[in-house]
Amino acid sequence: MDFASIFSARKFCLSFEVFPPKTAAGEQALLVHMERLVAWHPAFLTCTYGAGGSTQDTTLQLTTRLKREFGIPVASHLTCVGSSRDELRTYLQQANVAGIDNIVALRGDPPSGETTFRTAVDGLSYANQLVALICAEFPQFGIAVGGYPETHQEAASPEADLLNLKRKVDAGADVVITQLFYDNQDFFRFRDRCDAAGIRVPIVPGILPVTNLSQIQRITKMCGAKLPIPLMEELAQDESEDWQYRSGVNHATRQVEELLAGGVSGLHIYVLNKSAAAVDILSALPNFAR
Ligand SMILES: Cc1cc2nc3c(=O)[nH]c(=O)nc-3n(C[C@H](O)[C@H](O)[C@H](O)COP(=O)(O)OP(=O)(O)OC[C@H]3O[C@@H](n4cnc5c(N)ncnc54)[C@H](O)[C@@H]3O)c2cc1C
Repeated sequence: MDFASIFSARKFCLSFEVFPPKTAAGEQALLVHMERLVAWHPAFLTCTYGAGGSTQDTTLQLTTRLKREFGIPVASHLTCVGSSRDELRTYLQQANVAGIDNIVALRGDPPSGETTFRTAVDGLSYANQLVALICAEFPQFGIAVGGYPETHQEAASPEADLLNLKRKVDAGADVVITQLFYDNQDFFRFRDRCDAAGIRVPIVPGILPVTNLSQIQRITKMCGAKLPIPLMEELAQDESEDWQYRSGVNHATRQVEELLAGGVSGLHIYVLNKSAAAVDILSALPNFAR
């Protein structure tokens, strides 16, 4: 089922994002976590695509497997990094044959060790071009794109970044999934700005529960999201795994509660291939039922 049908069939769409594990044992462990997560009736699952196209095959395989095992709609992420237009077409053809319903269309980050994005030979420079290619040549796919409540770190200005998002939606994206954020006011302001700019597709908040301060400091540094000082101070109070997990999950639970009260059309949880934090958050809220 494509994104447009999913979002018109449900008032609220829960989704989970995973990444391809490096080993067969990792994949087995992931499937166990997914069993626990699908019990919460997600509307769809998505699987990331590695930097530099490094996990292209495993992304395709895992996305296909998730659909086969759980029978719910799936989306493969796809980036422009290191691929020519024809290579992107080949991936899209394979995804179509494999029965993948949707694509999360992204430009991608520079491969590790590089600081600026370089367009591949005969490749694409921005995600809006990938959206346009998919719409023109693979109209069967639903399309999601990335949105940045705190503005993408390479954008010339928040206004320029919003114009870029509008370009992606005007090119045919059905839904915007946001980068992780820890201050809901950033999300609500972003949603208002999208509305004022005439962006009319669902804007789905992306939530990554903190379970470990040093891990989250690494991730937020990479993607340019900020960690609110009170949350950082709370996490820094005690290095124990249990404290960090509890503080992070409590923060995410409060965030989700407020987002639901703010009428969001969905919730995309970056589960990092684990289930405990997502399950604890969903269990704490009366809106969700297994
Ligand atoms: C929901 C989500 C999922 C993600 N999944 C993955 C994944 O699986 N694999 C992965 O490698 N990365 C992933 N990322 C990270 C993403 O690849 C990076 O954030 C990347 O730096 C930007 O990708 P984009 O698609 O948003 O780029 P774009 O929308 O192309 O924007 C990139 C930058 O260029 C600017 N820009 C766009 N068009 C123009 C123009 N015409 N002129 C000048 N500037 C312009 C934008 O404002 C922005 O600063 C994900 C991000 C999100 C939010």
